[in-house]
Amino acid sequence: MSTRKPTRKRAAKTAKRPAPKPVKQPAGKAVAKRAEAPPRRGAAPRTRGPGADAARSVAELMSYAYALEAEAAERYAEFAEVMEAHNNREVAELFRKLARIEHKHSEQILEEMGWTSPPRPPSTGYRWEGPEGPETADITDLHYLMQPYHALQIALHNEKRAEKFFASLARKATAASVRKAATEFMDEETEHVRLIEEWLARTPKPAKDWALDPDPPAYHD
Ligand code: ZN
Repeated sequence: MSTRKPTRKRAAKTAKRPAPKPVKQPAGKAVAKRAEAPPRRGAAPRTRGPGADAARSVAELMSYAYALEAEAAERYAEFAEVMEAHNNREVAELFRKLARIEHKHSEQILEEMGWTSPPRPPSTGYRWEGPEGPETADITDLHYLMQPYHALQIALHNEKRAEKFFASLARKATAASVRKAATEFMDEETEHVRLIEEWLARTPKPAKDWALDPDPPAYHD
């Protein structure tokens, strides 16, 4: 049982950003990557805000929504890979599932808009509240012994942030069409929050000593 032991334990536990593997792999699409880019040269420094005044049109709102879902999907897929590397199959499977769900959302947005490829980010770049999209899981939350319950708590946190993000866009919208679309997204995220809460309710709570490894991995560095 010890040959396939994790060697990246420490990385996953304390990782700052990119951690064990290159974190962004936009599969040929630069959308999610650019979401992290600093404001373009020439752009006046802006305070970060959830989309700030960004969504001036429904298309712009939809491109935010797309980027958010796509980035969330990518991150969950990366988490699944990390968990697989640690032989934590149950949680890997859960993250895969979450990745599939978010990916489907992003595809639905393309379909709804009749877009054949991912939208271009706004000329100012995406302006999220933090360095990444509001539905993107934080890599520092990973632990190689984590249980489905923990994974779902991460997901819950992400859904709540996404809900707040769209709520704020709805509040700031000046066009009625944008407000309506943002409100619909917000309602969807509220529904996701509810679903994850239900899922959590039927998921066993971890024991207090869940992080205790009776056979800790050996480091070779
Ligand atoms: Zn969601």
